[in-house]
Amino acid sequence: MTRRPLFAANWKCFKTPDETRAYIDAFRPGAEELIPKTDIAILPPFIDLETVRLALDGTTIGYGAQDCYWEQQGAFTGEVSAAMLGALGCEYCIVGHSERRRLFGETDEMVSKKITALLAEGITPIVCVGETLDEYKGGLTLQRVMQQVSDGLGHLEDGERANLVVAYEPVWAIGTGLADDPDSANRTIGYIRQCLGGLDEARVLYGGSMKAENAAQFCAQPNIDGGLVGSASLDAVTFLKLVENGAEMRA
Ligand code: PEP
Repeated sequence: MTRRPLFAANWKCFKTPDETRAYIDAFRPGAEELIPKTDIAILPPFIDLETVRLALDGTTIGYGAQDCYWEQQGAFTGEVSAAMLGALGCEYCIVGHSERRRLFGETDEMVSKKITALLAEGITPIVCVGETLDEYKGGLTLQRVMQQVSDGLGHLEDGERANLVVAYEPVWAIGTGLADDPDSANRTIGYIRQCLGGLDEARVLYGGSMKAENAAQFCAQPNIDGGLVGSASLDAVTFLKLVENGAEMRA
């Protein structure tokens, strides 16, 4: 089975529209050369989406958001709906990132509603799962990801699960410089693939301190289809190098 790799840049709460334009100017030529080998997506803050859309016009480099709300519209101050993201041409949206779970109270029930709303708009959810440091130390990794996968994705049909993206992101590896061991990440992702029907065909990414220097080791693993990348995606040249190194292993 061939699963096309994907490298997605999670910019978190970084970059103004001007900074976004400068990034895409530097990123676009190199990224277009890599597109025959891999999918690439830029996931900026909401305020930069229109800038990204215009700057990537005429390419097949994807873009999307870092969160969404499940209702189409209404009195929900501060929220941006999946329907609105669809109208902006978003292809992807992160759901259940550990920072949203930890800092903003996102639950697996909310994750499942967001996924349903995104699928209705034809947007591919990038669903984040992963254990905390305490869970990792307590040997609870598989139990934790199984719970997140079954509570977040259990309501879907196999065919729907096959078309979404899961990102395995150990919380202790995010933004710390301490990436998981590639073999261990491969085993955990292999387990995720067995949790529910359809996940064997789904693309599953690794996230957590992926860098240009370690991307190839992760992408050489048979269960890992690319990366969800935070810090190392903030500089265009650094992210291009990471994508190039990772995609090379899957070619
Ligand atoms: C992330 O926030 O999804 C992430 C993987 O961050 P970093 O690459 O900085 O660890």
